[in-house]
Amino acid sequence: MTRVPHEVDALVLGAGPAGAATATWLAEAGHRVVLIDRARFPRDKACAEYMSPETLRWLDRLGVLGDLDRAPGVPIRGTTVVGPYGSRLTGRFSQAHPTPFRPTGLSITRRILDHRLVQRARAAGVDVREETAATDLLFRGRAVSGALVRGPSGGAKRIEARLTVGADGLRSMVARVVGKRRYGRPRRLAFVAHMSGVRDLAPGAEMHVGHAGYAGLNPVGDELANVALVVPRAKARLVRGQVREFFFHQLAKFPGLRGRLDPAGLAREVLVTGPFSAWSTRVIADGVVMVGDAADFFDPFTGEGICTALRGAWLASQTAGAALSRPSLVRAADLKPYARARGRAFRGKWMVERLIGHGMIVPRLFDRAVDRIGRRPPMADTMIGVTGDFVPPRAVLNPWYLTRMVI
Ligand SMILES: Cc1cc2nc3c(=O)[nH]c(=O)nc-3n(C[C@H](O)[C@H](O)[C@H](O)COP(=O)(O)OP(=O)(O)OC[C@H]3O[C@@H](n4cnc5c(N)ncnc54)[C@H](O)[C@@H]3O)c2cc1C
Repeated sequence: MTRVPHEVDALVLGAGPAGAATATWLAEAGHRVVLIDRARFPRDKACAEYMSPETLRWLDRLGVLGDLDRAPGVPIRGTTVVGPYGSRLTGRFSQAHPTPFRPTGLSITRRILDHRLVQRARAAGVDVREETAATDLLFRGRAVSGALVRGPSGGAKRIEARLTVGADGLRSMVARVVGKRRYGRPRRLAFVAHMSGVRDLAPGAEMHVGHAGYAGLNPVGDELANVALVVPRAKARLVRGQVREFFFHQLAKFPGLRGRLDPAGLAREVLVTGPFSAWSTRVIADGVVMVGDAADFFDPFTGEGICTALRGAWLASQTAGAALSRPSLVRAADLKPYARARGRAFRGKWMVERLIGHGMIVPRLFDRAVDRIGRRPPMADTMIGVTGDFVPPRAVLNPWYLTRMVI
């Protein structure tokens, strides 16, 4: 086995939930870790900012939940979904089986959440470098051996590492270079804002599904609501530089939002992101592993990307931590347990996400399913538990449940 003088054990690219958590757990296992992000924290992120009780369980495992509980945020009881023809279901976390870690989830801004996670990584001994972008990967033969980065002063620098972690999100450079990236359907874009003065806000998330896209609404603390609009990419072509006008024009089409949003209450510029439905067919290779959105992200409707990022970070850090205890560059063969564990952990959820994401394309069918589930509160609670990651997907992926969704 060749020994190479690597500068660090692990170089983590991207300090969102996936990267910050992976870096923290690797550092706690005694490894020398550098974590870089092109942003300076706190920073905004286009996200509906809603977390289920299961996400809170992972944040607790990471040791940041107490801190977040003291920060401005709103405990969330569950989710209400309004169908394209007015049908409605409300799922309550506390009524689902098995019972969640807590009866409530939490909505909190990504400015606060992601900043706390970066602080947590620093406290664990991670060398965190902000305003530092990875511009390319370094290779030794065919193995990734670090990255070329550009810091705040503008100079390019090589950081050599025995393991490089691609946690650089939806538009991941790492996934593009080594992940054999694939893109699927539906292709949607999201527009996300913070607004004050939203009328009739309840302590829960709302999802309003329309004929072309959907809108989410939930309180995030400090008298603000997160307002997210998701539309097909073809429709987003109508934006023509008028993002704000497009945003409010589209939102006005949802009957359940009419009269509740005043454009004058816009508290943060509308952030645009997408398209989604992107995944890496290869999440491990010699010297590199991908976590979070860099590994896969389907659609924001079922939320929970933060939970997936944290759980994936845990799985990756367990496998990578063991591999790093040997003194050489980490090989793909060493990382296989992670790839297998991801499949086991997420396969059922991937199926549920696609069931919902594709179901929305047929508004009558989707509305009928919302109506049938909504008439049977235990079914609604189960669905919210499955999308909230604490009820196993088989609780909805079975003939009994699927039949009752349509009859
Ligand atoms: C519209 C929308 C709504 C959503 N709503 C929810 C929700 O309510 N709840 C939920 O749980 N999930 C939600 N998600 C999903 C969630 O936002 C993501 O799944 C989650 O952020 C993934 O975490 P991550 O760490 O993989 O990526 P990110 O959070 O995207 O972090 C990636 C980091 O990498 C950095 N980066 C990127 N490229 C480079 C580079 N070249 N060099 C250095 N740094 C780089 C970025 O600056 C960023 O900080 C939503 C997503 C969208 C798009």
